[in-house]
Order: sequence, then structure tokens, then C-alpha cells
Amino acid sequence: IVLDRSAFYAEAGGQIADVGTLTGSGLEFEFMVEDCQRYAGFVLHEGYVSSGTLSLGAEVKVTVDFGRRAPIAMNHTATHVMNHGLREVLGDDCNQKGSLVNDDKFRFDFSFARPPTVEEMAKVEALSREQIQQSLPVFVKECALDDARSINSLRAVFGEAYPDPVRVVSVGADIEKMIADPDNAEWMKYSVEFCGGTHLASTAEAVDFVIVSEGGIAQGVRRITGATGAKAAALHARAKEVGEKASAAQALSGDALKKELTALKQVAEEEELPLSFRNGPFAEVMKALGAKVLAAGKGDAKAAAARVQAEAESLVVAESAPFVAHLLEAEADAKALDLAVAALSKAHSTKPVLVVGVSPKATAVLAVAPKGHAMNAKEWVAAALEPAGGKGGGKPDRGQGSSKDASKGAETLSAAVAFATGVVSGGSASEPQD
Ligand SMILES: [Zn+2]
Repeated sequence: IVLDRSAFYAEAGGQIADVGTLTGSGLEFEFMVEDCQRYAGFVLHEGYVSSGTLSLGAEVKVTVDFGRRAPIAMNHTATHVMNHGLREVLGDDCNQKGSLVNDDKFRFDFSFARPPTVEEMAKVEALSREQIQQSLPVFVKECALDDARSINSLRAVFGEAYPDPVRVVSVGADIEKMIADPDNAEWMKYSVEFCGGTHLASTAEAVDFVIVSEGGIAQGVRRITGATGAKAAALHARAKEVGEKASAAQALSGDALKKELTALKQVAEEEELPLSFRNGPFAEVMKALGAKVLAAGKGDAKAAAARVQAEAESLVVAESAPFVAHLLEAEADAKALDLAVAALSKAHSTKPVLVVGVSPKATAVLAVAPKGHAMNAKEWVAAALEPAGGKGGGKPDRGQGSSKDASKGAETLSAAVAFATGVVSGGSASEPQD
């Protein structure tokens, strides 16, 4: 539908189109406007007739859905405020590349050679929130292009062709005063842009402001997303809640700590959170919690190694025993086996030593044989691992191997004893008889 004039905002400059209705003055028809596009100087109201019949030249009542436009305006004014904040923090090398504002969020693309630091982004957010809390009036004025261009703080999108006169939007400074005194340093405190979009009358209407994400989208181009109003307030409230949870987790230990850390990681992965919180205090607490879990794990491993060593040292071996073969009671990985074998071969240096260790995921075997002994440690390990279906390797004086079957510790030990018994008695058995 084309009208002689319209209150609908047609999609432009990153701001999505208005929606609403066109109704006959006597309610003889209703047309639902789902989209609005500008074409050849006309505003095209796109949608469908939901009741009645439309006729050429009919008079219509135009109803824009202002409940939806209000949050769009909040997000649009917020991008102007943030664009200003970005320049304050990052300098003149950051330039707007594009934007999108709808009733849920804003998106802002800008050129910048490097990722901004956590501190820089936190500062951009703080400056933007500050301007919103200051209830700055928003000024909108059609100006001669040259007059507008003379204002020192004007931010134009490079390469964009602007009409003359051009529509100027200033957040905080009176446009006429700026044009009268364009070089005044005072104006640098405020956002001044060429823009055809719909805006708030005062920044206070945006209520709150939050940056949710920042990241690179192409070489030298970065994207910020964020929100205003109730959504921003809800995200800040959620950050407070999650922050308190994370702080409380610092008092936990053991499995309770691990569980809470997993839950917090899930929150970070699945939920939108304020960027300054995510990369700031939350990241710090999560790092501390991770370090605590890691330290506890190391403590566990140390304690397990000590248990294995104590077990090996307390093992009673008969003087006459030709070899030592032992299944560790304490859970043991390859590293713990090493300790056990070292302890046993030190105590029984003339005997071949084999130790079987079972951990949740494997059965492992390590064997050593004194130089010149009939026992081949590599073969011994291979024979021991046969029932568990494992493989071994090594040399005659030291062999090791493992099986992914963690249920055959006892069988592994039996096979090791049988093999060793064969070796130590085998020498005499094969001696020629008189
Ligand atoms: Zn704008």
C-alpha cells in the first residue's frame, strides 16, 4: 500500500521497519502492516488485508505499533551513545561499519585493528551507561550538509552519500548552538550523527544499557551486541546472581566444588551475560575455582602415589622367593607403578620384580629384571597381559604394558606368577639328565 504520507518508519540505517495497521475510517477494512520499505521515494506498506476490502483512494487511519517502536528507539539511541563511547576509549581509529537495531537488541559493527581489551570494553559500557543515567535530551534537526559537517564532534559513516539538507541527531547538545559555534571543545562530550532513525526524547528512557558480546567478524572489523531497558536490567541482575553463586563456590571443596564449577561453566556457555562481568569479575572467580579444583586433583594424585609407595614398602617378601610379583591394592596408574617397582627393586635387588596396577580405565604392568638374570622383563610383561588382552614392550631388563580391560587384575597377576615360575624352575628342568 502506498499512502500520500505515512507515520511508518521504513527500514533504513540499520533500524528495522515499523509494524501496525491501516484501517478504513469507518472500519470497513483492516490491513496488517508487517514490513515497510522505501522504494523510489515512496514508503511501501507491506502486509495483508485481514478484513474487508481496500479500494484505491480510500482514506485510512494509520496505527503504528508504538509498543514495539519504543524499545527500538531505546536501542537506536543507545548505539549512538555507544559509538561516542567507543571513540572516547579507542580513539579516532574506530569507525562505524554498520548497525542493526530492533526491539530486542542492538548490533554495532566498527573497524578497529585489534581486539579491544577487557578494560577498554568495560569503560565503553560504563561511559554509555553514564550518559543514559544523565537523562541527556536528544535533539533532531534537518540541517544544511555543510553546516552539519562543520560540527567538530560529528560522526559520519565514511563513504556514505548524505542528502542536503541532512537529518542530524545529537545526544546531549543543542544542534543550533553547535552550528553557531562548531569548534567548541564542549561538543566533543556528545554524540552527533547523521541519522534518519527514530530516537528517544531523553536517554533516561533507555533505563539501562549493557554490552553482551564483542568479537571480530572480518579482518579489522568487529561487532558489539547489547541491549537496553528491561533486558539490560535483567542481564545485570542475572550477573549479580551468578557472581554471588561463583563467590559462594569458593568456600566449597571436593565433589561439591567440581559440581558447582561445572554448573557455572554451563551458565557461561548457554546464557547471555554482560560482557564486562563475563570477562571481568566472573572470569577471575572462575579462574580461581579452576585452580582450586586442579590443586585438589594434584593433592589426590600425590596421596595416591604415597599410598602405592607405602604398600610396596610394606610388602613382605620371603628371602627364598625367586621373584617378586604383586598386584597393588591401591589404585595405580603408570606413574604410581613406577614408584612401586622402584621401591620393591631397591629392597630386593637380586630378584626380578613385576607389579600390576589397576586404575579405573586400565590394567598396567611394569617389570624389571637384574642384569644377567634369566628373566626377560619384556616377555614377562607380555605373558602377564595375555588374559587382559593387553600389549607390552620394552627391553630384557625393563618392560611395561597395559590393557584397557580394568577387570582382570587378578588374572594378570596369576599369569605373571605362572610365567615367572616357569622361568626360574625352567633352567633346571631343561638341564640334561645324567
Ligand atoms: Zn542512527
